[in-house]
Amino acid sequence: MEYEHVLVDGFGRHIEDLRISLTDRCNFRCVYCMPEEGMQWLNRDTILTIDEIERLARIAVDLGIREIRLTGGEPTLRPDLPAIVERLAPIPGLKSLSLTTNGFLLDRLAEPLAKAGLTRINVSLDTLNHEKFHQITRRPALDKVLAGLETLERYPSISPIKLNVVGMRHFTEDEVVGFAKLARRKPYVVRFIEFMPLDADGNWERERVLSGDEIKEIVERDFMPLVPVQAEASSTSRRYRFADGVGEIGFINPVSQPFCATCNRIRLTADGQLRTCLFSVDEWDLRTPLRSGATNDEIRAILRNAVAHKELKHQINEGDAFQRASRSMSQIGG
Ligand code: SF4
Repeated sequence: MEYEHVLVDGFGRHIEDLRISLTDRCNFRCVYCMPEEGMQWLNRDTILTIDEIERLARIAVDLGIREIRLTGGEPTLRPDLPAIVERLAPIPGLKSLSLTTNGFLLDRLAEPLAKAGLTRINVSLDTLNHEKFHQITRRPALDKVLAGLETLERYPSISPIKLNVVGMRHFTEDEVVGFAKLARRKPYVVRFIEFMPLDADGNWERERVLSGDEIKEIVERDFMPLVPVQAEASSTSRRYRFADGVGEIGFINPVSQPFCATCNRIRLTADGQLRTCLFSVDEWDLRTPLRSGATNDEIRAILRNAVAHKELKHQINEGDAFQRASRSMSQIGG
């Protein structure tokens, strides 16, 4: 691939995955993400428009981005989400267009998103227990999310359906077998994700991290042995099939088994700042040049320069060297 069409960082990693946050707002208040009250929202006039998002996506794909994931906050809160999907899906060279959502509005949006060209989806769901769902999201909405998932099953063009389950000590242990059974009963790929220090309150503690290996142990001890499945080099998930071949489960272990060495991701915030790592403390402003007449070449140069300075890794396991990200998860997107 000619130099013009690849994004390579200072460590030789090819950047092919762009996460685009469409909003910092959310209709849930998950305790490991944001406070119940008092969140400072981004100014609405700083939020990228659909035209700006499409222009940046086209430039990024031309530079070698092959996967785009739409995130938030909660991206389904953007009324123009189906229109954004419709604009991005046909971009030549884009291999996959996915969405990360809390699933609350999926019963209404599954059809328009499928028609617009969405190809993959990740739904965040940390518990199958109504009380615990209310406790963790501060919303009594489990049934609505499950209904949204059922609706989604009617649109096989959106596949796979991945469930993201944040693993937390003294919360997730008694959920593991329930999710394992769900991964076999339904066309959902369940992935357990280790709890990361990205909460707005700054309350993250290492003791609260339930590691992927600990969860895998629970599955194999209390349910069924697992068999590894080959995954792509840049995949963040350690994939497994159940011993009898029915259903798939995965473990995303950024704390206990970091995967930064093969990271191929960059992120665009809802207000047009480029982040080269989830834990970046610095950002690259794309909104100002976009809105002050920059050419595509000038935008390309900013993207290239940012990637050339991409961080090697997070430093969660390096004591005082670890610096919290300059934004919380809801302002970055998954
Ligand atoms: S922490 Fe940063 S470098 Fe590591 S995998 Fe995540 S985005 Fe990539």
